[in-house]
Amino acid sequence: MFLPVSSPRGGALRAPQDPPGLLGQTVLRWLTHRATVVSAQSLTPSFRLVALRATAFGQADWANGDKVQVRATGMSFRTYTPFRLDGDTDVVHLLGYVHGAAPGAHWLSRVARGDTCDVMGPRRSVNLGGVPDSATFFGDETSIGLAAALGHAVHRHVFEANDPDEARNALGAVAPGAANAARFIGRTADDGHLAHAEALLDERAAASLHHVLSGKASSIQRLRRHLVARGAQPARIVSKVYWAPGKNGLD
Ligand SMILES: Cc1cc2nc3c(=O)[nH]c(=O)nc-3n(C[C@H](O)[C@H](O)[C@H](O)COP(=O)(O)OP(=O)(O)OC[C@H]3O[C@@H](n4cnc5c(N)ncnc54)[C@H](O)[C@@H]3O)c2cc1C
Repeated sequence: MFLPVSSPRGGALRAPQDPPGLLGQTVLRWLTHRATVVSAQSLTPSFRLVALRATAFGQADWANGDKVQVRATGMSFRTYTPFRLDGDTDVVHLLGYVHGAAPGAHWLSRVARGDTCDVMGPRRSVNLGGVPDSATFFGDETSIGLAAALGHAVHRHVFEANDPDEARNALGAVAPGAANAARFIGRTADDGHLAHAEALLDERAAASLHHVLSGKASSIQRLRRHLVARGAQPARIVSKVYWAPGKNGLD
């Protein structure tokens, strides 16, 4: 489902350029490259699909699980996972979750075709190289891009989400093959829903020697502990914290 959002948007809604001072601009020239927004669409009320073009993307030694960091305001960058790189056109595709009022969410919700932005990367982040088809995957809204980047059917996808139906629609848009079998669990205030996630991963534990965990810090810590207690080898658990309550712009 694509929401009818016009792109580019009107002037008042454009993503803020918010340039830093002279020193900051010098640093930006060293560290970043300028990307152009090729398209920006609302898949659902909270998920935005953004395509960025930069010559550096086509030249990058890109691997599944890599990250890009976009300047959201001033000298603050926010991190996203390209789930596809079109090398011949120098375009990367991101799926961003607009979780609330914060610089990255603000950039995501306002960015429009024709905008430019300062970007670092792609750079290595989650090493999906040795992850076989038999792996299990746990994540949340921020991990849907990573799930799509994984690029093959894992044994089981489990997502925690504020709105499971919305998250399923977002996954369906970027990785239709994964969406049908994936399980989406609604978050509860006391994290009781994670017992359900553990049970879903346990169903596949015997067949799955490898596990990929990403998203909210406390959820990953709990599921990692659970998997290890059930006999998973720590070396076969690939985990990456994408956000933590009260922390800004991890990574
Ligand atoms: C390697 C890596 C790859 C990532 N890839 C993606 C991606 O592809 N798509 C994507 O949407 N996100 C992705 N993220 C997560 C994203 O970078 C964070 O959610 C980031 O904090 C968003 O920046 P912000 O400015 O909106 O919020 P911040 O200013 O960083 O945080 C402000 C407040 O919002 C809270 N918050 C942050 N994220 C969330 C959330 N998801 N849900 C609820 N509360 C939140 C924070 O804890 C903090 O209290 C990735 C993160 C990393 C480290």
